[in-house]
Amino acid sequence: MSEAKTQFQESAARPAIDESRALVERLHTGLTQHALYGIATRNASTTLREELGQIFDLSAHPRIGDLLDKLHELGEGQARHSLLTRSEAQSVEKDLYNLHSHVEQLTHDIYTDVLTGVYNRRYYQQTIEQLIDRGEKFSLLAFDIDHFKNVNDKYGHTAGDRVLQIFAKDLETNVAQGDIVVRIGGEEFCAIIFDADAKQAAHVAERLRETVEARPAREGAPNITVSIGVAQYIPGEDPKAFYERADTALYAAKAEGRNRVKIAADIPMAQAAAKPVVNKGPGL
Ligand code: GH3
Ligand code: MG
Ligand code: MG
Repeated sequence: MSEAKTQFQESAARPAIDESRALVERLHTGLTQHALYGIATRNASTTLREELGQIFDLSAHPRIGDLLDKLHELGEGQARHSLLTRSEAQSVEKDLYNLHSHVEQLTHDIYTDVLTGVYNRRYYQQTIEQLIDRGEKFSLLAFDIDHFKNVNDKYGHTAGDRVLQIFAKDLETNVAQGDIVVRIGGEEFCAIIFDADAKQAAHVAERLRETVEARPAREGAPNITVSIGVAQYIPGEDPKAFYERADTALYAAKAEGRNRVKIAADIPMAQAAAKPVVNKGPGL
């Protein structure tokens, strides 16, 4: 996985989690340092007194004795103060940990498709905007399962759902780590392929298409095929126009007989002649 991908997943995608984790860490470090500093100060004063006592008669040097007493008091107070507030602080810390996992769960739910467990449209929209802002190189694969209505009609809606779950899993396990699989809605999915031009992304698409085609029917879920449109992001392109380019390529794959991969034209949709659109797209 490239550094860009790692950074993206770690920081930009989950700011709320990062924020709560930072809070927990700050509190933890603060507590530890506070207590340790106090203990160290107190111990240092004791050691110093012993060492100085071997050289001087400290009773003859009240100012040094006073200073050492002060140092000891300071350290003791600091250590004790930390110990006294520690139980309270631990409960705050526990609350923060709970808050942290709560935030993590919420963030997961907000960005996840319930049926398939892959990312949802909201995540796609935010991700695309961030990638564009950062000037990342990436391509998009737009998927639409072929004749999916027949699956529901012949095998029932539950089998249809199972097919969607298997399909999503096949996509997830066959893209590179860090690439992003999204259920846009219904039987329409897309995948963001990092660091890939259209040709490289089409290679990935073809591998995915073959995997889906080769998947044997199981657990009441018939096998399916998928059509895929591929588009490389053109810097400056509007996100909606970008999705539409991939979608137009997908339409071409359907029109040519389905179960195939088509690469989008290298021109933004605004400049291209109006073409019929298969999917509604993510409404960007
Ligand atoms: P094409 O090859 O042209 O894509 O044909 P299609 O039958 O796949 O296309 P169409 O868009 O007509 O059918 C999509 C079907 O997907 C219709 C709808 O009932 C079904 N569908 C959408 N969401 C779900 C879902 O969550 N579960 C199930 N089981 N079916 C769904
Ligand atoms: Mg469809
Ligand atoms: Mg379909």
